Amino acid sequence: MSAAAAAPLGLLAELTHRCPLACPYCSNPLDLAARDSELSAAIWARVFHEAAALGVLQLHLSGGEPGARRDLAEITAAAHDPGLYSNLITSAIGFTRARLVGLRAAGLDHVQISIQDTEADPADRIAGYAGAHVHKLAIARIAVELGLALTINVVLHRANVARLRELVALAVELGAGRVELAHAQYYGWALRNRAALMPTRAQVDLATQHLAEMRARYAGRVAIDAVVPDYYAQRPKPCMGGWGRRSLNVTPSGRVLPCHAAETIPGLAFWSVRERSLAEIWTRSPGFLAFRGTDWMREPCRSCERREIDFGGCRCQALLLADDAAAADPACALSPRHDAMLALAAAATVADDRAYVYRARAPGAATSAPHAAAALEPFAP
Ligand code: SF4
Ligand code: SF4
Repeated sequence: MSAAAAAPLGLLAELTHRCPLACPYCSNPLDLAARDSELSAAIWARVFHEAAALGVLQLHLSGGEPGARRDLAEITAAAHDPGLYSNLITSAIGFTRARLVGLRAAGLDHVQISIQDTEADPADRIAGYAGAHVHKLAIARIAVELGLALTINVVLHRANVARLRELVALAVELGAGRVELAHAQYYGWALRNRAALMPTRAQVDLATQHLAEMRARYAGRVAIDAVVPDYYAQRPKPCMGGWGRRSLNVTPSGRVLPCHAAETIPGLAFWSVRERSLAEIWTRSPGFLAFRGTDWMREPCRSCERREIDFGGCRCQALLLADDAAAADPACALSPRHDAMLALAAAATVADDRAYVYRARAPGAATSAPHAAAALEPFAP
């Protein structure tokens, strides 16, 4: 398969890395973007028009916490203007009914709210924010009342995976049309917390049974998407649907990436929307061309019948666990590093599952907080 670029379908706009929460599984980079490096609303508006012209249909307004941007309504309106379907990916902190009403008026189509657990105590402990859980549930209900489509997202890890069924039931009770159950992906802060987050094999097997049970119970009522845990997989997931094949990420400062962790691969040049158009970046930037298609593959991927199904899995994970970004993802049982990955997972699960290093809330902020002292100053966008 050649490296020619088809049109992308989705764009993830990371409006900021600032966030009031401190989730240890956060996939944001350890080196968070500074507030004064963030793109202005005017540049985002230009990017959204270029994205629509390029063929993008869905825009995800993400972060960090996008609600940390005071100009979020202006940015949302700029997404609506060229006809993009807009999805706000949020922790719900910093939102009120009035603010959601304003976003809906600006053209917001969909809200995706993350919840951490079924009860406030464990949920707030891992979020690092007292009162977060109750507020999230209230905002989710308001979003549904306002007629916004709602997805509930849950990152699964060792401390909450046993409650998968209860988490789905809570999402249904809130009025979600879709539930995303995503096992933690070990990049950024999550990688730093891998030992504390990694579920056991027995937990993953039970969760797989519970997932099937919930899909059967709620068939036709709610869509349940699941991201399997790489470390216990036999074949990798088609990371981002293939590198530079369907979607792009724009970082808070404007660099355009094939996936949010791509900058962990040294030696790749990622161009910025500050200097170039999105179309030029999508079709010509070295970072996108590096692993687009299948021409870059080595064995065992090169001759594998699944090479255009999973595209060799995740390049960032291949670098991390096989020391080679062009290797087969070690999540694949055909990778020579697969057994080492399994051993790593098994070794990780003996660590204390609450010994988290909390994500910094902004560049330069403290990175660690004791569980008992999770209360923070109020969040003011
Ligand atoms: S800290 Fe939590 S809520 Fe904030 S961006 Fe990271 S995962 Fe999302
Ligand atoms: S060998 Fe490569 S292409 Fe084949 S299944 Fe494994 S990762 Fe996918």
